[in-house]
Amino acid sequence: MSARTLILGGGFGGIATAVELRRRLGEEHEIVLVDRKPEFAMGLRKLWELVGHGTVAEGSRSRALLSRHGVDFRQVEITAIDPEGRAAETSEGRLEGDHLVVALGAAARPDLVPGLAEHGHDVWAFEGVPAATAALRGFEGGRLLVLVAGAPYPCPPAPYECTIHLHEHLLERGLRYETDLAVATLQPLLMPNAGRKGSEWMGKQLDERGVAYRAGAKTERVEPGRVVLADGEIPFDLLITVPPHRPPEVVLESPLAGEQGWIPVDAGTLQTSYPGVYSVGDVMAITLSNGLPFPKAGVMAKLQGTRVARAIAAELRGEEPPPLFDGSGFCPIEVGGGAAAVVQGRWYAEPEPVVAISGPTAAHAAEKAAFETEHLERWFGG
Ligand SMILES: Cc1cc2nc3c(=O)[nH]c(=O)nc-3n(C[C@H](O)[C@H](O)[C@H](O)COP(=O)(O)OP(=O)(O)OC[C@H]3O[C@@H](n4cnc5c(N)ncnc54)[C@H](O)[C@@H]3O)c2cc1C
Repeated sequence: MSARTLILGGGFGGIATAVELRRRLGEEHEIVLVDRKPEFAMGLRKLWELVGHGTVAEGSRSRALLSRHGVDFRQVEITAIDPEGRAAETSEGRLEGDHLVVALGAAARPDLVPGLAEHGHDVWAFEGVPAATAALRGFEGGRLLVLVAGAPYPCPPAPYECTIHLHEHLLERGLRYETDLAVATLQPLLMPNAGRKGSEWMGKQLDERGVAYRAGAKTERVEPGRVVLADGEIPFDLLITVPPHRPPEVVLESPLAGEQGWIPVDAGTLQTSYPGVYSVGDVMAITLSNGLPFPKAGVMAKLQGTRVARAIAAELRGEEPPPLFDGSGFCPIEVGGGAAAVVQGRWYAEPEPVVAISGPTAAHAAEKAAFETEHLERWFGG
């Protein structure tokens, strides 16, 4: 039964796969996890650092600590994927496995919109957070715009969560009444995955806080002080951006890439068209009954990774496969005042996904904080 699972990407999906595999299989099973970065932190930390609710450093953990689960972490750059050989080429040579799990996430591509990187602050990338935070600290009122300049992007509700965090932050600093706060997205609805009702709910949250919002705002380019749209412009003094995202280059160049470059998988097993090769999280593609892509979220990547690990373990132990991934999950969205609402989705429902929003309550905000603490504890030991 001795075998090796090679996991490409040490984010939510990759780590959940590794930890669950070790829960199910003894030390004779090798688990190799590859990522270019030494540390893991959750996306929610980016928004918390921006508005002073904590720092990314406080929520960062060394991936080397996964050795407590017998996971062999390699900090290397993946340069090619060979699904036929269940292998990857890396900056330190070739790695092979009996099973291969591709969990390489979505890559931010601000370069796809002229002027976006030069004139905006990308808080979807960890690297963009310090400069955005400094710019916000220096902001003394004016026009503050959150711009969704491409889709799909990780965590569909997060731009609005970010906007509400900014609203609260400005209130605390006594600058809210000096600020025109707005959020604009290229998508036809604020949250297409949550449908018309979910988007209206979010619109109401923004209305209640005096935040202007606009859907269908397709950015052509960004110039100093203004976003130029296909049909007009939006002026700003400070611009926070969600850039377009695309599959990582190494995936685009691999035989796994589907039509749009994301990796097509079976909706229930998360297996690719190559036997023994799986893909989970933001990098994979499942088309829902309404034609939209499966939402990219850490909670979902974790559930998918867990299912894949159980399937690999069952196969190696000669057991029945685990229940199929059912496409259900939930995520709390912070709405300020120490409260959060919960978006619960049954994404595989027919004829369209079923989405319910409950709250906001203080208990849901506590659940969101606990989600981070508990996972850091379980995965890295605190
Ligand atoms: C601001 C913000 C807030 C968010 N809030 C939430 C939230 O509250 N709840 C939630 O569920 N989700 C949230 N998300 C979304 C969540 O972060 C992503 O959906 C999740 O990280 C996806 O997990 P993943 O494992 O698919 O990919 P990732 O976590 O992106 O991991 C992919 C890994 O692959 C590595 N990699 C890529 N290419 C290479 C290469 N060539 N060589 C080596 N390594 C490579 C990367 O370094 C990375 O560590 C948020 C995202 C953002 C940006």
